[in-house]
Amino acid sequence: MRQKLLWSLKEMCLLFGFLCVLLHFSLHYPLPLPSRDDGSVHPTGTAPNDLALATKYLQQFYSFQADASGRRRRSRPSFSSKLKDMQSFFGLNRTGTLNSETMVLMKTPRCGVPDVDDYHNRRGNRWMKNLVTYDVGRYTSHLPVNTVDALIASALEVWAKASPLTFLRSFSHQADIMVEFVRNDHGDFFPFDGPDGTLAHAFGPGDGIGGDVHFDEAESWTAEYNGFNLFVVATHEFGHALGLKHSQNPESVMFPTYKSRKTHSLLSSEDIMNINTLYGPSNKWSNPSLRFSWNNPSSPWASASHLPGYMWIKHNNRNDVKEGPISNFMPRISGQIDAAYWVAQRSAVYLFNGTLFWTMKGTQVKGRVKNISSLGFPSWVRQIDAAVHIHKTVDTLFFTQNQYNEHDKTMSESSPRNISDDFPQIKGPISAAMYKDGCLHFFAGPDVYEYDIKQKKIIAVDKPSSWLGC
Ligand SMILES: [Zn+2]
Ligand SMILES: [Zn+2]
Repeated sequence: MRQKLLWSLKEMCLLFGFLCVLLHFSLHYPLPLPSRDDGSVHPTGTAPNDLALATKYLQQFYSFQADASGRRRRSRPSFSSKLKDMQSFFGLNRTGTLNSETMVLMKTPRCGVPDVDDYHNRRGNRWMKNLVTYDVGRYTSHLPVNTVDALIASALEVWAKASPLTFLRSFSHQADIMVEFVRNDHGDFFPFDGPDGTLAHAFGPGDGIGGDVHFDEAESWTAEYNGFNLFVVATHEFGHALGLKHSQNPESVMFPTYKSRKTHSLLSSEDIMNINTLYGPSNKWSNPSLRFSWNNPSSPWASASHLPGYMWIKHNNRNDVKEGPISNFMPRISGQIDAAYWVAQRSAVYLFNGTLFWTMKGTQVKGRVKNISSLGFPSWVRQIDAAVHIHKTVDTLFFTQNQYNEHDKTMSESSPRNISDDFPQIKGPISAAMYKDGCLHFFAGPDVYEYDIKQKKIIAVDKPSSWLGC
């Protein structure tokens, strides 16, 4: 039972079995670089402004290439063939000429990501893990910070609901998905263009700029239906950050041009199918009571040691649960995990295996693996059963067999004490411990004891399955 434990990850809790290694292949979904010249051809009867705009549009979104003199290179597709591609994409008549319906579409505010990628280089277009971190770097001046935070989190939640993905804000510029509100030239090859035109763009899954989402700060971002609704645009851009391309279906949230949408059901069935193709279906439990039982000898737990590492993630305020092999969430962690705890102030997770422990930020291991002797444990302690950090008092409790140690914020330890002396009615060994709302939750045997710290007594007994929304 000791390999099973729950740990609190800010508002989330995670349940571990064993871990296995998976190399982390971060692959970048490449975007064509826009050509910087304004080369154009000159069909008769077209306003020069429209022609310049159309040329730029086809260069940016349909990989049209013209040389500096404005003539297309012989080997390259012509302006009118690229124009036909664009007209087909949007379901217009394939005239190959700049008629008014084509010009109206070209002037419609849209996403900055191309509609075609003629790149053979389509190696990886998904994250090779299910736990993806994000953060907001530069904010917009059009909306309050907490509104932006809420809209960004909601937009990610749209995809989380439809897939096995979980998004965790990491408060670090090393986050997988960095969200930034920026203007004009902003350090990548895709300068923004002021109000309207291009609203935002995103990079497909990968290291560095991969996964990042940029919003044009020149747009009037709103949480309403006037201006550009940040939630709608963010949901679209996060689709790219997860590896999705533009859709020709106007009902799809991945359609390239902006339109005001009903915000309660943004994803079309096509969007759900496409995200499931990349990451698999959302894994809501069909019969939780059967799949999570501490008593049932035929439960998956009974043979946990023969299974690859498994992990459950639950948000305290929600009922859905994410599950999957730990390697999906945290590549590069190997060995079995005995205990874990989260320190919100440091955005750090500490994972224990025997006498060793790792520090993790997001899904990345930070620094070297250390020995628990560096936390002051005597050499006879060979394993930590459970650990919990109480953010209110900044104390961390470590449980081993029938005893526990308390570390203050400088991590200087108290001498071991008996669990039952300080937590009446609680008997070790404890397989996991969590802190929530002034109570410690001890997982011991088949039960979870909710222990009120102030009253010093058990106020409820529950089954572990209740933690997983069952
Ligand atoms: Zn887009
Ligand atoms: Zn950018």
